[in-house]
Amino acid sequence: MKIGVPTEIKNNENRVGLTPAGVFELVNYGHEVFVQEDAGVGSGFSDEDYREAGAVLIPTIEAIYALAEMIVKVKEPTPYEYPLIKRGQIVFTYFHFASSEELTRAMIVSKAVCIAYETVSDEDGFLPLLTPMSEVAGRMAIQQGAKYLEKPIKGRGVLLGGVPGVPPGRVLVLGAGVVGIQAAKMAAGLGAHVTILDINMKRLRYVNDVMPPHVVTEFSSVYNIKKHIKDHDLIIGAVLIPGAKAPNLITRAMLKEMRPGTVLVDVAVDQGGCFETTRATTHENPTYIIDDIVHYCVANMPGAVPYTSTLALTNVTLPYVLKLANLGWEKACEKYPDLGRGLNIVKGEVVIEEINRAFENIL
Ligand code: NAD
Repeated sequence: MKIGVPTEIKNNENRVGLTPAGVFELVNYGHEVFVQEDAGVGSGFSDEDYREAGAVLIPTIEAIYALAEMIVKVKEPTPYEYPLIKRGQIVFTYFHFASSEELTRAMIVSKAVCIAYETVSDEDGFLPLLTPMSEVAGRMAIQQGAKYLEKPIKGRGVLLGGVPGVPPGRVLVLGAGVVGIQAAKMAAGLGAHVTILDINMKRLRYVNDVMPPHVVTEFSSVYNIKKHIKDHDLIIGAVLIPGAKAPNLITRAMLKEMRPGTVLVDVAVDQGGCFETTRATTHENPTYIIDDIVHYCVANMPGAVPYTSTLALTNVTLPYVLKLANLGWEKACEKYPDLGRGLNIVKGEVVIEEINRAFENIL
């Protein structure tokens, strides 16, 4: 199969759909891989790395779309790319269709085969192509939180690990899913005291089993959250209710109960956020302060660490890319139902319920 890897043109997106290692693997299976010049630069991969791995470097995005039977990328196509997508072409990427009617219409019109990373899922609902980005965001939440606790950036002036003779900082994690567990693990590794709350007892049992004793689990309730916000230095929002907006676990009034300089990191910002005062920020301007409380609410946290994020993403996407390339999309999606659940729009037809629910009369 002819596979194309365009440069991501969405603002501030430095990840790339395939690494040189992925190209090498595909070429070994007899496929042709076309990579746009400079596509990997933002993630630390040079054109030479791709060439050595067996890719053909192509100067323009137009030529990539024209040559490829399958496009492998990271973010949804931009309006500039809509007319470049060919009828029957496979496009394998994050789409998040329900958040954009314009994109959905454009992909219907293109008659492409749109396979979305975010809906590839096993029978238990596990989302293998979303998990690595939650892992990155969870770990980053502590790195960012620790930085913003420093006094010059208006934090409380607390060193999370403490020092001999001085107690460590206290981290409260709301949600013990993928993000929450990675955050708790990083905070614990720095030596901070960690409290982690969830409404799912299975998750809390798991955390309790695998974490050191300075990570304490508690059931998530308004009462417990109110109790803990008073004496925790860094609070991480990491809750998710699938298919719904995140619940407001910390209200504006509750900010007054926190100590000035407390840092809130709302990782759940992409689902509306779990603090009432959350509004999405960017890596250029990541924080704002309300009632002396520092808020960090960057919606695409993994974008700041493209090298790690690209490797983490392509580790999990490559096996599916190989299946699609080796078998063609129809056979691959039939043989591997988890991949089949990634099909969202097929040659002009919407094939998952979520899109129809999001936009009435989309057809
Ligand atoms: P997950 O499903 O693995 O975990 C969510 C957890 O929240 C679950 O364990 C659930 O039981 C718990 N929860 C639900 N309601 C709760 C409540 N009232 N109190 C406490 N816990 C509650 O999800 P995840 O992969 O960890 O993702 C968490 C959030 O992070 C999602 O909104 C996701 O979209 C977001 N995310 C953001 C970024 C970013 O860059 N900002 C990156 C990756 C993921």
